[in-house]
Amino acid sequence: MADAGPPGPALVPHGEPPVYFTFAGLARLGVPHATTTRHCPGVASFAAPIDPRAPRPPFGPATTPALRPAGLDLARVAYARQAHGAAAAPAPAGGGFAGSVDVVTTTAPGVPLAIFTADCLAIVLYDPGTPALAAAHVGWRGTARGAAQAAVRALTALGARAGRAHAAIAPSIGPCCYEVDEPVTRELARAYPGRWQAWTRPAAGAGRVLLDLWAANAALLAEAGVDPARIENPRVCTACHPELFFSYRRGNRGRLVTLAALP
Ligand SMILES: [Zn+2]
Repeated sequence: MADAGPPGPALVPHGEPPVYFTFAGLARLGVPHATTTRHCPGVASFAAPIDPRAPRPPFGPATTPALRPAGLDLARVAYARQAHGAAAAPAPAGGGFAGSVDVVTTTAPGVPLAIFTADCLAIVLYDPGTPALAAAHVGWRGTARGAAQAAVRALTALGARAGRAHAAIAPSIGPCCYEVDEPVTRELARAYPGRWQAWTRPAAGAGRVLLDLWAANAALLAEAGVDPARIENPRVCTACHPELFFSYRRGNRGRLVTLAALP
């Protein structure tokens, strides 16, 4: 799709053109956060280091001032070498490298958790009662491997209650644009027999379907105990909005980052 119109009121733009969006619900809860657009400078994917104990910082110098209005202190950012799995790790107390995981958690105020994407879902989970925060990177592999559920488990391991948690799903590829074939559907069928079809509709080619990772992960979060009424799912597609986002599927190979910190 060439132009799907502007994202709805669930995502609030910042800047002209927007440098990042915030979620209406997370903002109401006072969570410093941002999900960036292609107009945010200096965002790179995790740069595989020669020495895994000393990864390169994932942001350039221009990113810090660009995201400062969101209340995010990038000097304390925590990030991971994302691996399309479901492993979780706590962020180092002062930020920095959390390991080769796809779920990062924290109970420390002011430590932004960063998830890098270019079509995959970034999911933020926040329990104001503990308080505790988790951020997850979830593509089709992460969905099959249960990354969203792993994020809920990692949060509850910190004393959080799933039923009290607020979830937000960042702009990512939608069912309008996410055509997949047998290697993907085989893994989903193995992980969620009898259920995965509800997250798909037929595509033109034989064995091909349009996959709704938003619906799948909202359902999996709810099944893990998150109140569906507390799942912010603005359903904004990265591939439908080339003017705003990078999309791997569309060949726009930059990176978006979703960041959130405990107040
Ligand atoms: Zn789309």
